[in-house]
Amino acid sequence: MAQQGTLYIISSPSGAGKSSLINALLTQHNAAGKMMVSVSHTTRAPRPGEVDGQHYHFVPVEQFKTLIGNGDFLEWAEVFGNYYGTSRAAIEASLAKGIDVFLDIDWQGARQIREQMATKSIFILPPSRSELERRLIGRGQDSAEVIAGRMAKATAEMVHYDEYDYVIINEDFEHALFQLRAILESQRLTLANQQLAQQDLLQQLLAE
Ligand code: GDP
Ligand code: ADP
Ligand code: 5GP
Repeated sequence: MAQQGTLYIISSPSGAGKSSLINALLTQHNAAGKMMVSVSHTTRAPRPGEVDGQHYHFVPVEQFKTLIGNGDFLEWAEVFGNYYGTSRAAIEASLAKGIDVFLDIDWQGARQIREQMATKSIFILPPSRSELERRLIGRGQDSAEVIAGRMAKATAEMVHYDEYDYVIINEDFEHALFQLRAILESQRLTLANQQLAQQDLLQQLLAE
């Protein structure tokens, strides 16, 4: 049996750095092509620079509801007044090929996925509320009204940190990225994963 990929769920309040961390991981540390990020569907409008099919699949509400009806989503949730969902097909195919898949989803989606599949989940916290607000403003992609809404919802997201397997404080970016990589490395070194990944070597070493 080939090694199955691990499904990682990453959540945080908006602006804590999930997208930046996942992006850095995949651009800097994915030479072997063993990781991918799942592209969600959303009904929110694209931000400047966001590309359909790359950052999200941007769809109208009616189409989103059709996808729900068809059972195409592993999970979906309403976040900040928009719908977001994770489609089932791409994830299952990648995991079966031994590729680790990252989901950048909120706590409601995380709960739905945990009920259905084995996961490792990671919560990213900001070093302070004031720094979280600075990052949302500094990102320069949301209106003052949207930023105020996201700050108001930050506590409602953060209270769920204790439902996750790992917690990273994203103060220094490089340090947080190192910690994320450490979680991945240790997961790949578990007995169960090494028994699958190193089958040939183990057979040779243990032969009489
Ligand atoms: P953008 O919307 O295109 O700016 O995308 P992101 O906000 O996700 O960040 C783009 C890249 O900037 C990421 O790949 C990170 O490596 C890098 N980055 C973001 N924040 C920091 C930071 O605080 N420190 C460092 N060293 N790099 C950062
Ligand atoms: P999220 O995906 O959680 O909403 P982003 O990854 O978009 O958050 O990060 C929000 C903003 O904060 C971005 O402008 C990003 O460059 C910045 N950022 C992320 N991590 C750090 C960090 N450790 N220090 C300073 N700025 C950061
Ligand atoms: P943003 O609009 O900043 O890209 O994302 C807003 C929130 O929606 C974030 O908390 C993000 O984790 C969450 N989100 C993005 N995609 C999905 C998804 O497919 N499912 C769920 N449940 N949440 C999502």
